[in-house]
Amino acid sequence: MVDRYWIAFFAVFVYLVRVFEASVGDADPLYRACVEQCEKTGCVGERCFPHCKFPSDGAVVDSPWYLQEPLYLRWKQWDCQSDCRYYCMLDREKEREALGNGPVKYHGKWPFKRVYGIQEPASVALSALNLAMQFHGWLSFFILLNYKLPLKPNKKAYYEYTCLWHIYGLLSMNSWFWSAVFHSRDVDLTEKLDYSSAVALLGFSLILAILRSFNVRVEAARVMVSAPLLAFVTTHILYLNFYKFDYGWNMKVCVVMGVAQLLIWAIWAGVTRHPSRWKLWTVVVGGGLAMLLEIYDFPPYEGFVDAHALWHATTIPLSYIWWSFIKDDAEFQTANLLKKVK
Ligand SMILES: [Zn+2]
Repeated sequence: MVDRYWIAFFAVFVYLVRVFEASVGDADPLYRACVEQCEKTGCVGERCFPHCKFPSDGAVVDSPWYLQEPLYLRWKQWDCQSDCRYYCMLDREKEREALGNGPVKYHGKWPFKRVYGIQEPASVALSALNLAMQFHGWLSFFILLNYKLPLKPNKKAYYEYTCLWHIYGLLSMNSWFWSAVFHSRDVDLTEKLDYSSAVALLGFSLILAILRSFNVRVEAARVMVSAPLLAFVTTHILYLNFYKFDYGWNMKVCVVMGVAQLLIWAIWAGVTRHPSRWKLWTVVVGGGLAMLLEIYDFPPYEGFVDAHALWHATTIPLSYIWWSFIKDDAEFQTANLLKKVK
């Protein structure tokens, strides 16, 4: 059984590494020439972009100071590059379609159609819904613990994982927020913020998986488990942001952390007598199946909904069940502890 897990894990892994290597679209010399020319002239065919007009360096341009700020110029440069890439891509895709060829990826992404300047509207909308779902789950967890379940005489909750789930809720809301931003506008900064928040969430949920499934309640033991993981995740985030943004390596780290926690929860769900273990099973199986969408990474239908967007759709019901499991766990543990007290 465990062998099969490893084979599946390895297959996913090899595939993901391949996906993140250079894409076919941007290796195309015609596309490259188009972008290069566009960045010089500011035009693709008939269309010209105002963002591509940079002031000649050194010369004082007749524009207010804030239009000469380095940050503003950076944004302009990003806008110019992204407009050039977008319109060159649309042109190339039209030519490819006329020749009967299917869509290819550009800079690691499928050719999406923009809506009001939003790059991937479907993924943005679904990320926003995920964010709302996480907020709903976290809020109902907060209300359950503070207003519905009995509290200790010192006004603290009996449930021993309260604080950890609160941090988990905040990290996941943060991560969905940056996911929505990143899918609406893909530049260095938004990409780094999205990837960093996702890694932080993944790392923290791995710690939580270990602490909850092994029922680690002693403070010192908790520190011993989480310290090395926290150190690793922090180093990894710093490495990505300030040393090298390495997609392949990051993918390996994420897949290992993701599969590890899925396995931990699955094994725990198999051995525990927890009354809500079926919810755990649903999330583990659902999460595993949802991963298949990332593997069969198909191009966007009509230029809008791709496999990744659908994957974001599946996490909405899964988060609902997940928070429902967390609430059940809080009720279950509180009841058990009160039984012992009496
Ligand atoms: Zn996404």
